[in-house]
Amino acid sequence: MKLIRTDLGVAVQTADQPLLLRHIIGIGRNYADHAAEQGAAVPDRPMYFTKNPMSAALHNDDIVVPRCCQDETTGDDQTDFEAELAVILKHHVRDADPHDALKHVLGYCCANDVSARWWQKKGAGGQFNRGKSFDTFCPLGPALIPAADIPDPQNLTIRCRVNAETMQDANTSQMIFPVATLIAELSRETTLLPGTVILTGTPAGVGMARTPPRFLRNGETVEVEIESIGTLTNRVRFA
Ligand code: MG
Repeated sequence: MKLIRTDLGVAVQTADQPLLLRHIIGIGRNYADHAAEQGAAVPDRPMYFTKNPMSAALHNDDIVVPRCCQDETTGDDQTDFEAELAVILKHHVRDADPHDALKHVLGYCCANDVSARWWQKKGAGGQFNRGKSFDTFCPLGPALIPAADIPDPQNLTIRCRVNAETMQDANTSQMIFPVATLIAELSRETTLLPGTVILTGTPAGVGMARTPPRFLRNGETVEVEIESIGTLTNRVRFA
């Protein structure tokens, strides 16, 4: 299935009408090795935040780093990459049963949960949303793979490369809370709209946790590759 841009944001091109991506929910620290690289404990409950739906971008779009995320403004070099498996829901979901919650999935794609770390940690009172919601900070693609083609989303290799150098190399089997559990937890007494996107967390290797830290630079290419889905490619452009 194709992902397309509309006036109201990114949508899935379905047989009848475009399905707008109206809500993006991110999961924090859903891989134990990523929690460890931040010196954080493995969570005993899923950790959630949201991204502005208008942050969605497509395969081959530029990731535009705004001036307020450049170190001349904040004093911190900070724009980071996070390879993630994205899940898109196909209908209203409320109180999903964790045993068959995957039946609510329309499809899967690669995502890059681009994060401005100064805004995530210091610039917004401790809430993640601000640092993860700048325009173009949620590339999705290269296409949406129908759920029927991915019977087991918990056994896929996931990698991130920056300028062809491998930064993250893991498997979705390492998720602490699997996709079905996340759908059940997020929909507890809560209605999720069709077109809700769930970013299922990133494995170890992000730029802020490397020694020395390795943030994105103007002109670099970021690739997120997930087995059975494909490779999402975006170039970094400093505004
Ligand atoms: Mg993330």
